[in-house]
Amino acid sequence: MKISPERIRRTFGFIPTATFADGVCHLIGGFGNCGVVETDEGLVIFDITMKPLGPKIFRDLRNVSDKPIKYIIYSHGHFDHCFGFAPFLKEIKEKGWEMPEVIAHENCVKRFEKYRMLDKYHLWLNQQQFASLKTPIEVSAHETLDPTIIIRGNEKYTFKFGGFTFELHSEWGETDDSLWLWVPEKKVIFAGDLMVSHFPNVGNPYKVQRYPKHWALAMESMMEKNADYLVPGHGELIEGKEKVKEVLSITAEAMNFVHDEVVKRLNEGKWFEQIFHEMLEIFPDKLKNHPYLLPMYGCYEFAIHAVYRLYHGWYDTGNPTDLFPAKSADVAKEFLKIADGAKFLEQAKKTIEQGKLQLALHLLDVIINGTDSENTLLLEALKLKSKVLKQKADTETSFIATNIINNGALAFQPRIKELKNKLKSQNL
Ligand SMILES: [Zn+2]
Repeated sequence: MKISPERIRRTFGFIPTATFADGVCHLIGGFGNCGVVETDEGLVIFDITMKPLGPKIFRDLRNVSDKPIKYIIYSHGHFDHCFGFAPFLKEIKEKGWEMPEVIAHENCVKRFEKYRMLDKYHLWLNQQQFASLKTPIEVSAHETLDPTIIIRGNEKYTFKFGGFTFELHSEWGETDDSLWLWVPEKKVIFAGDLMVSHFPNVGNPYKVQRYPKHWALAMESMMEKNADYLVPGHGELIEGKEKVKEVLSITAEAMNFVHDEVVKRLNEGKWFEQIFHEMLEIFPDKLKNHPYLLPMYGCYEFAIHAVYRLYHGWYDTGNPTDLFPAKSADVAKEFLKIADGAKFLEQAKKTIEQGKLQLALHLLDVIINGTDSENTLLLEALKLKSKVLKQKADTETSFIATNIINNGALAFQPRIKELKNKLKSQNL
């Protein structure tokens, strides 16, 4: 089931500014929402979005308040939450205001260091992950607005400002540097990416380990607050005690479910493949169909990987063949000695007719990986794989999965074109 483009737009921040809690708080939509608490002494900002959206967030903020920013809090160190600061710094300089305090978890500082070390790699992987966006993702941690107040371990940090209490909680979930904010006077939670309004991004195929059980615990500690409002890291304001409780509790339930069921199967001595396919069978409809658990960005399948990876090493098949595997091209070549490529192509076409697209990909890979000579069979296999990938992408809902599949199809295009031209010139 495809998710409506309107729902996707709203979830990814194309929403009007919401002012709530007696006009004291604002949610400014962006890819990475910006939360604002307006006090008589100035503003407290929770997240400052990504670099390309900094000017948009700045304009929208200045439409609701002209007060100086006194605190910036980073929910975590991802590029869509703390890199849109440039227009704000320009304004501070122009107006001669004092620099705000910047609050983050100690692991956020380590994250920035890691991003600098792996700068080119992160640029590449984010280009892969966000390939379908019209605006290219700018990712660089060489310019950061570094924290001035650093929260350590799982400490709770509370400060008073402008007549309000700001209670910051350290949790793990999508990251190990998450902070969420509770403002008791207004009963508002600012959740960062612990709440993304769709299935938690808990098993991202490109990125480091995430923490499903801790995620559930974070949801449970938020529930204790009995909040009236919840500002998610992505998506619209969540309003009303019951609604807030419902989205927190369903997210906790999903995270507990995937965690506990994978753990149970690990204890039963099962390997990844069996666990994965069993998990697909038992995914409850209640979780599958909940509007706050739609697989828009991450998905349930990725979450299964996250739990397994959290507790297991890289040897995940239980088959010693896979301990020191041969090159996939060499394996494919041996298969092609048994039956020629035409047979594999024929079988791939049959499986496509039967709707078994994934099996067709495995069959086509034998031809693609095992064929050195440039022939029409290879061309046909490449074209067919590209078509199957596009077909799969058309029914995929997860943004990350869709991009990975489409990237694969696109990557073949120059090879297909080149091979076509070569074969054409040979036939002349
Ligand atoms: Zn985010």
